[in-house]
Amino acid sequence: MKTYFRILSFAKPLTRFVVPYSLFAFLAIVFGLLNFTFLMPVLDILFNNVNYERTTLPEPALDMKYLKSMFDYYSVILIQEYGKATTLIIICFFLVGSNLLANLFKYLSARTLSSVRSVVVKNIREKLFDKILSLHIGFFSNERKGDLMSRITSDVLEVENSVISTLTVFFRDPATVIIYFTVLFTLSWELTIYTLLILPTSGLIISMISKKLKRESVEGQQSLGNILSIIDETISGLRVMKGFNAERYIKEKFAKENHRYSTLVNTMGNRRESASPLSEFMGVSVVAVILWIGGNMVFTGELEPSAFFFFIVSFYQILVPVKAISSAATNIQRGLAAGERIFSILDTESPIREKKDAIQLDGFHHSIEYKNISFSYESELVLKDISFTIEKGKSVALVGPSGGGKSTLADLAPRFYDPLAGEILIDGKPMKDCSTQSIRALMGIVTQESILFNDSIFNNIAFGKPDASKEDVIRAAKIANAHDFILQTENGYDTIIGDRGMKLSGGQRQRISIARAVLKNPPILIMDEATSALDNESEKLVQEALSNLMKNRTSLVIAHRLSTIQHADEIIVIDKGRIVERGNHSELLQKNGLYKKLHSHSFDMEPEKAE
Ligand code: ADP
Repeated sequence: MKTYFRILSFAKPLTRFVVPYSLFAFLAIVFGLLNFTFLMPVLDILFNNVNYERTTLPEPALDMKYLKSMFDYYSVILIQEYGKATTLIIICFFLVGSNLLANLFKYLSARTLSSVRSVVVKNIREKLFDKILSLHIGFFSNERKGDLMSRITSDVLEVENSVISTLTVFFRDPATVIIYFTVLFTLSWELTIYTLLILPTSGLIISMISKKLKRESVEGQQSLGNILSIIDETISGLRVMKGFNAERYIKEKFAKENHRYSTLVNTMGNRRESASPLSEFMGVSVVAVILWIGGNMVFTGELEPSAFFFFIVSFYQILVPVKAISSAATNIQRGLAAGERIFSILDTESPIREKKDAIQLDGFHHSIEYKNISFSYESELVLKDISFTIEKGKSVALVGPSGGGKSTLADLAPRFYDPLAGEILIDGKPMKDCSTQSIRALMGIVTQESILFNDSIFNNIAFGKPDASKEDVIRAAKIANAHDFILQTENGYDTIIGDRGMKLSGGQRQRISIARAVLKNPPILIMDEATSALDNESEKLVQEALSNLMKNRTSLVIAHRLSTIQHADEIIVIDKGRIVERGNHSELLQKNGLYKKLHSHSFDMEPEKAE
């Protein structure tokens, strides 16, 4: 129930919906009831059962007897005045009128509900997206992409379909049931008692079915997440997949998961579908019993035929909401399971905490200092007691074998992670005390992945700086050696570059992300230098672009080709999470250690993260 109300709380303020909804729903029930009440005098006229003695208005009371005698009274007057045929027409007009009103209010109440539904779903989806954006980078290596996508899309849909649809059931249907039962009681309390005895049995059977549904639903959503993950991996790694002839492997993996999902969906469907015919059968059985008992009461004169007819019709009106309530009980289980999966993301707390009175950095003045930094992703330490300082205007290069911890060190600077031990000081202030946003505002990040969006080249460069003018963007592109090739594309700066920049070459992508960093013009640069297989020409262009970018800036560069960092002010050699050597290029060569070795193998070095 807690999850249910939490889902509803996304429609805040709920009172905005509850008041009009209750009003419309109540009116819809009242007019619906009136509909059938009009049938009674019609039947009496048809079966010649009009009580002509009824010539005075009865004492007003709030029950069916009063309503019926009032209708009798007016129909007698009408018949005496206009004859039976005209009276029938008049009653029919009333019938149509009240039916129109009943349906109008039904429609209005449904409208109110559907706006609750869309507001809730919109808000949940937005909250989830915001949360994913705000979560720390570390979260995403644990949670798989497909699983996250399935939570944002299909779990939210599941909540929409089940939990929100049950709103009707919980708010309107119980009222309908209660009101109609009151009517039944005033018609014939004996007959009502019989129905009350039989009806709950069917409810019990239905609830037994729904119990298993929740567990199956959780499994089903997980399986869907796996499917989405496989699709995502396959599409983004298609080249590797095909290159390694791994299609069969991935096909089998997909088929297995797909089969599991389909079996689960099938079982769930069977279970859900069985609820409806079962309850229909129960309903008809109950009606049969009532027909038998009530019919006998009519034979003995205890009940008028028109009242009995009205009883049966009203009872049928109850069956619909009762059925809805029982099938809602099964549906809601799936929705709640999906809701819990959504909330488990919303409740994830980022370990990167922002202090309430965090310092707002207004610029970069002196230095960034790594002080005795240790770090681990899981249990194993990947950085051990690392200290170094990057002075303003200087460039520091990190080199070393793959897996040594260079990227991790670079990730600590924009506070994607917090160190396990030690601290990073920016202008002497511990980073933990500074606002993360103001730290990142000082930094430009150029990674190997050069993340691009499926949008125009212009927007990809201006990304993060939406107020940039066309001139600014062109200037940045020129510095990044990108202007010329951009002009050669189909629509110049307006060319759409495809998913993740698929339509561009590796070097072009890199230069666009360099242009992006140039435009941001940050005082500090963090670069994971390109290693991907660039041809000589584009490598030269990229290198030139990088040197332009680094001019007059403080930079931390992860270098893969040692040729490019010979001019760095300090080169730090990292191996297995430790600093093994440090100094400038010529000092390091003289040491005749790991750097020298790496340098001589420089061109054999594995471009480890290039895809
Ligand atoms: P480099 O950049 O020098 O190649 P990394 O910083 O990428 O090295 O990796 C250092 C170590 O941390 C490696 O052993 C790697 O397996 C591990 N590692 C990197 N990223 C993660 C992660 N997200 N979760 C767990 N371990 C990681």
